[in-house]
Amino acid sequence: MSAGAPAERLTIVIAAFDEARSLPLLHPRIAAVMETLADDGIDAGVLYVDDGSTDGTWEVLQALAVSDRRVSLLRLSRNFGKEIALTAGLDLVTEGAAMILDADGQDPPELIPRFVALWRQGYDDVHGTRLSREGERWIKKLTAHVFYRVMQRLAKTPVPADTGDYRLLSPRALAALRQLRERHRFMKGLFGWIGFNRVALPYERHARLAGRTKFGFWRLWNFALEGVTSFSTAPLRLATYVGVFTAFGAFAFALWVIAKAMLFGDRVAGWPTMMAVILFLGGVQLVALGVIGEYLGRLYEESKQRPLYFVRDWHPAGAARPAVDPPADLRRSS
Ligand code: UDP
Ligand code: MG
Repeated sequence: MSAGAPAERLTIVIAAFDEARSLPLLHPRIAAVMETLADDGIDAGVLYVDDGSTDGTWEVLQALAVSDRRVSLLRLSRNFGKEIALTAGLDLVTEGAAMILDADGQDPPELIPRFVALWRQGYDDVHGTRLSREGERWIKKLTAHVFYRVMQRLAKTPVPADTGDYRLLSPRALAALRQLRERHRFMKGLFGWIGFNRVALPYERHARLAGRTKFGFWRLWNFALEGVTSFSTAPLRLATYVGVFTAFGAFAFALWVIAKAMLFGDRVAGWPTMMAVILFLGGVQLVALGVIGEYLGRLYEESKQRPLYFVRDWHPAGAARPAVDPPADLRRSS
């Protein structure tokens, strides 16, 4: 990035799912930050992606777009999940850099100028690293902590600890990201996979402005599985090792059984041992099959080559009324 080039563009991309109560509180803060950025020669805009909300988020967003010409809106045809909603938003940022923010105010927009400063120093991926997490339960903090450590050990791709989606991506990082069209998208991993210059920016994570988190325990667990299976085949290898280990154990045990029968005769005993062995092997086999199934299922999903999302409404910045039909190039989302 050439430092201080005239009117650099920055699009703040915000995925929102049922955030009707947070957005009116968040937007004025973003608007203030955009003023500051404008003074600094940055032409900033916001792109809100409504991820199939049902609580009136779209109406709130439309009101924001009417009052602020820097706002563009994208509405997906249903709830696709945060990773896809972000992808849809980033797909539209074809000029300048993108800044990703949560809609609930957990990532303070006031820090954006610091991200921009690092971008101007030549970094392509400036990611916010949480120093603390206000308003979250200890169990979430603990599981998140464990998850990041496990990911770091399993995956060859760097997934920095305590780092969410709060980040700035340079134009070339965005161009790279746009080429990754996998259906199972673990964005944190994809950001790391594309490479380039990365730098962490430590920050304090705030509590939600309103509403509740959409990532309950079950969803987080599945998210973690997605992360591991998308970026590591270690579980498959583990299944192999467990198999080899058990086979050796079984061989040793067989030798012992045969030797015992030859020395002391065979009095058809040992039902408990047999049951234990059968149940143990059955369990190991089912676990290994399950692991293979996780990967196979994902392979199946990918092989269908479905588009990642569909666009329901598209409202470019400055338009008087939302266009009902998205432009043709937007429909092509695969
Ligand atoms: N989100 C989304 N689609 C979903 C779930 C969440 O776009 O299906 C958005 C949500 O509106 C918020 C961000 O993703 O802007 C993070 O969600 P949340 O705050 O529920 O997660 P947490 O911060 O607790 O991890
Ligand atoms: Mg949140």
